[in-house]
Amino acid sequence: MTLKFENRYAKLGERFSFAIDADPLSNPKAVIINVALLKPLGLDNYTQDDLLALFSGHQTPKDASPLAMVYAGHQFGGYSPQLGDGRGVLIGQVRDSENKLVDLHLKGAGKTPFSRMGDGRAVLRSCIREFLASEALFHLGIPTTRALAITTGDEQVRRETIENAAMLMRASDSHIRFGSFEYFSYTDQHTELKQLCDYTIETHFPKLKNSDKPYDELLLAVSEKTGNLIAHWQAFGFAHGVMNTDNMSIIGQTFDYGPYGFMENYDPYYICNHSDDQGRYAFNRQQEMGRWNCQALSQALAPLTTPGLLEKALNCYEETFLSFYHGLMTKKLGLSNSNPEDKALYEDLLDLLEGYSIDYTIFFRSLSRYYVGKGFRTLLDNQNYAASFAPWFERYNRRLQIDMLSETDRHEQMCAINPKFILRNYLAQKAIQTSEDGDHSELHRLYDVLKDPYGEQIDQEQYAQETPDWGRNLQVSCSS
Ligand code: AMP
Ligand code: MG
Repeated sequence: MTLKFENRYAKLGERFSFAIDADPLSNPKAVIINVALLKPLGLDNYTQDDLLALFSGHQTPKDASPLAMVYAGHQFGGYSPQLGDGRGVLIGQVRDSENKLVDLHLKGAGKTPFSRMGDGRAVLRSCIREFLASEALFHLGIPTTRALAITTGDEQVRRETIENAAMLMRASDSHIRFGSFEYFSYTDQHTELKQLCDYTIETHFPKLKNSDKPYDELLLAVSEKTGNLIAHWQAFGFAHGVMNTDNMSIIGQTFDYGPYGFMENYDPYYICNHSDDQGRYAFNRQQEMGRWNCQALSQALAPLTTPGLLEKALNCYEETFLSFYHGLMTKKLGLSNSNPEDKALYEDLLDLLEGYSIDYTIFFRSLSRYYVGKGFRTLLDNQNYAASFAPWFERYNRRLQIDMLSETDRHEQMCAINPKFILRNYLAQKAIQTSEDGDHSELHRLYDVLKDPYGEQIDQEQYAQETPDWGRNLQVSCSS
């Protein structure tokens, strides 16, 4: 097999993108390749040299039409009228082995007309962070873009310090953002706005094609996808960090990984991005910010949609969020159906985890092995707060006794939703540090562990441990 290009986005025309080749990295070397994705994309018969040339921008494949996409976006609440791919190039769109259209996007591909003051590059550190997180989320079952490969070369770039430049090849069904619609709406290019909606419907929401009000339906469908996505983030303790509308995918995938973080000790006020002074994108504001973004999209689509649709879209977002979040949280507790009191059951548990600063992931994983009536003290590291947990466990016991799942089935269900392995910031940091010194073995090891987050992997216990003190509060900023 070979890459089968079908450059549908390029065909939208020059108002949508700027045709440009990637600016290759000199003396490129592969850092990591996601081998499992090669075959479905038709890259399995490429030699190592061909892959390296493709992933480092040295070879534009035959039939590809590389381009930088134009978009705008609300960044930290303020509108930026012109953003666009300033350091990324959509190399092309290919049909995969399931006949699905996949975008191949090379991040760090050099300057474009949208680079403004930037150098068009990404750094090795940020490419590794995106690679690990997108693959970790994928294997956890959270909607996300995928990572195909990282390459680096001789080039160095200035960030807070001097760092190695690198490229990340990203694979995703779509690189269209909420901000893509905002751009056409607020530049009064309403014909193009409609064209972009038609493209999005045709490519990503084909069932809406024959609807009487396809643009209304599009807004509702995107609100629903976004509600689902953010419910997953909340249930897994993931904070995105920069939920600007230019980083919101129209198909509801986690998109554009920057200073994200997995919550360690349960803390609803967790802010993963140390540049986010106001805590706009704090963990416990993600639900609200998802809603804010749906509202921004709704305003951008207003020229095409029925007046008064906003409320319906926001309700759709809220209802989807609540129902998925509730579904995920009850499943994390091992409940097979939902009772009216279940919401209070998990909310009260979260209050306890917060009050005693307990590791969210480790606690739920231990709870997955809990036997009714056998005592809960072994689940807690510190017996000083066992008395505070006792009333909660009494309620939990009563609830489990009226649930239909057998103990064995419950344990199985819980281990399939309560991961043992998440991407802790300090683990990413260790892999980054060794990779920056030229040794990628730790990166490869960590990536292998993250491919099976629900497995026991008993020889990899060190990756499931609580974060050591030195690894807490590592500062991660937007600079990437
Ligand atoms: P991000 O923070 O990665 O979502 O990027 C926000 C905007 O800044 C996008 O338009 C990017 O293309 C642009 N950008 C970020 N870093 C660079 C860079 N090093 N060079 C040029 N543009 C950049
Ligand atoms: Mg972005």
